[in-house]
Amino acid sequence: MRVETIAIHAGTIITDSNRPAIQPITTSTTFEHHDGSMVYTRAKNPNRLALEQVLAKLESGQDAAAFSSGNAAAMAIYQALPPGSHIIAPDDMYHGIRKQLMEIFRGIHETSFVDMTDLEAIRGAVKSNTALIWIETPSNPLLKISDIRSIVGLAKEFGLKVACDNTFASPIFQNPILMGADLVMHSTTKFLGGHSDILGGALVTKESDELWEKIKMIQHIGGAVPSPFDCYFLCRSIKTLPYRMRAHHHNSSALALFLSTHSQVGKVYYPGLPTHEGYELAKSQMSGFSGMLSFTVKGGADKADELISKLRIFTHATSLGGVESLIERRAAVEGPQSLTPPNLLRVSVGLENIEDLIEDLRLAFGQ
Ligand SMILES: *Cc1c(COP(=O)(O)O)cnc(C)c1O
Repeated sequence: MRVETIAIHAGTIITDSNRPAIQPITTSTTFEHHDGSMVYTRAKNPNRLALEQVLAKLESGQDAAAFSSGNAAAMAIYQALPPGSHIIAPDDMYHGIRKQLMEIFRGIHETSFVDMTDLEAIRGAVKSNTALIWIETPSNPLLKISDIRSIVGLAKEFGLKVACDNTFASPIFQNPILMGADLVMHSTTKFLGGHSDILGGALVTKESDELWEKIKMIQHIGGAVPSPFDCYFLCRSIKTLPYRMRAHHHNSSALALFLSTHSQVGKVYYPGLPTHEGYELAKSQMSGFSGMLSFTVKGGADKADELISKLRIFTHATSLGGVESLIERRAAVEGPQSLTPPNLLRVSVGLENIEDLIEDLRLAFGQ
């Protein structure tokens, strides 16, 4: 089956004898003892099972595990590693997950933060206790592209696992498992949810191996599981994901082009522009450029803030992947240690009419 059909049909496991056309929400936390597989909702629930089924198929994995947030999904991997493990992670890793490694796992695991676009830097960071390489591509907020296939090749030389945060690309445009990655992580809060109203996370595995068994145990016993309502609404969102992603790609491409020719814009960070360092690589591992881009405003942070204040359609807010366009100045969010240019604005390009988005920016720029 093709992706549109999977998105619509794989998230359904009807157990109701009335045979409704869509998966009903099963709110019961407990199930009468019988020969079926459901006992207690923290362990298993029809809505979560339906969600995990569609996620596994979309990422071409063997199995999936849904969590109550993207952070909880990532943390389950670190919890599943033996204590004393060394992790190689991107120097521009999503800040919330970076903080887990620096604060929660300090004294439990060791982490080296490296430039993931530099294969030799990754090789140089491998130690005898290295267990995992963490990839995030495209990265946040500079949209740097790391070479999934080459990093997997390097990991195989040393017998390391590779996990990829695939949130920015979505399963529609990039499938790390098909390029050899062992685990894929998503913040389903973003494109998968798509309407800025569900918090969630997920892991998909290439193989149901020993590490995966441990992750599933952590999901069940750790208990950071999503509610049946959240799972239901995610399955509903996923039905339109292929079409939404194409529209995100269409709008972000047009917006990147507009910004790249504007006199008040410095640099545009968008992997779909031939001037982007990762353009060729992005084309080789992504089938679309998703909905994220960043750009710098000439004249500094004040000019960037002024531009935001004049926008009427874009919402000044964090997060991404929803139908509505969002914009924020990342350095202001990341705090004093941020390495992001102070005049950089990150945009989550939504599904409004692209002419209206361009017009909004044109008016805010004052030309
Ligand atoms: C949002 C995000 C996360 C964290 O997900 P939550 O659902 O907010 O916990 C992780 N990685 C990336 C790339 C994200 O954008």
